[in-house]
Amino acid sequence: MHKDIATPKRTKEILDKYGFSFKKSLGQNFLIDTNILRNIVEYGEVSEKTAAIEIGPGIGALTEQIAKRAGKVFAFEIDQRLLPILEDTLSPYDNVTVIHKDILKADVTELIGEELKAYEEVRVIANLPYYVTTPIIMKLLQEGLPLKSITVMLQKEVAERMAAKPGTKEYGSLSIAVQYFTQAETVMIVPKTVFVPQPNVDSAVIRLVVREEPPVRVKDEDFFFEVVRASFGQRRKTILNNLQSNLPDGKAKKQGIEAALATTSIDPKRRGETLSIEEFGALSDELFPLFK
Ligand code: SAM
Repeated sequence: MHKDIATPKRTKEILDKYGFSFKKSLGQNFLIDTNILRNIVEYGEVSEKTAAIEIGPGIGALTEQIAKRAGKVFAFEIDQRLLPILEDTLSPYDNVTVIHKDILKADVTELIGEELKAYEEVRVIANLPYYVTTPIIMKLLQEGLPLKSITVMLQKEVAERMAAKPGTKEYGSLSIAVQYFTQAETVMIVPKTVFVPQPNVDSAVIRLVVREEPPVRVKDEDFFFEVVRASFGQRRKTILNNLQSNLPDGKAKKQGIEAALATTSIDPKRRGETLSIEEFGALSDELFPLFK
């Protein structure tokens, strides 16, 4: 048995050995609690048949726990200084490939698409760098990878917005973007004390189970998201006002917008935050001929 990386003592030993200094700009907050890491992997439903994609392995704390359960781990790390450390700490695991790339710039499908085919399922597990959580998740969802789930640690406040239900103050265009592609659930709240250095914000683990079909079939996906964004333009405004102000030539098309709201039985005085995904779907289909 190897000593776990994610203990305060072993982590300190590794950091000291390599004289590693944290870069705040890269969201480097490493986990030092093995139980939390095991729970993340558990919620991530990783097994022998899984190819796991990790973003930001750091010194390998989570990578190690995934490697013990998964068929294969592909770990994308932006910080070159971590490469020799990972080579050392992950040397007991022959099922890990570390890829030195910025995940936002990497063509993941081109890099590992072929290799993923050898596994029954692909899942993302990560303790994300907090400065780019949303762009990373949206990129992964839109990349066309055959993902089953994304289980990641991020800021608690962002997790709440992603999993929010209509009618709550957290519900917005991010909730709809995420829930259009996945079923979202916050599965764990994590205290600051299990990281070095400790982050300024509270953390949570969110599990996004990728849908086989979107919850609504819309005529045009891009326009659907345009309508969603327009509807949340200014949260205090009514849906009618927001659509008029934020859709192209919205003011001139007021009558058409009112007619679309009437046809879909949506009260023009409602606010965007009260509409379900299904209602946004019906509304955007009704508005589509008017704007395209
Ligand atoms: N997985 C480790 C753990 O749990 O202890 C480290 C997590 S730390 C919150 C985030 C990691 O993501 C860091 O290792 C950082 O260097 C890396 N990172 C930051 N931006 C990245 C990017 N755009 N692409 C890939 N890795 C990135």
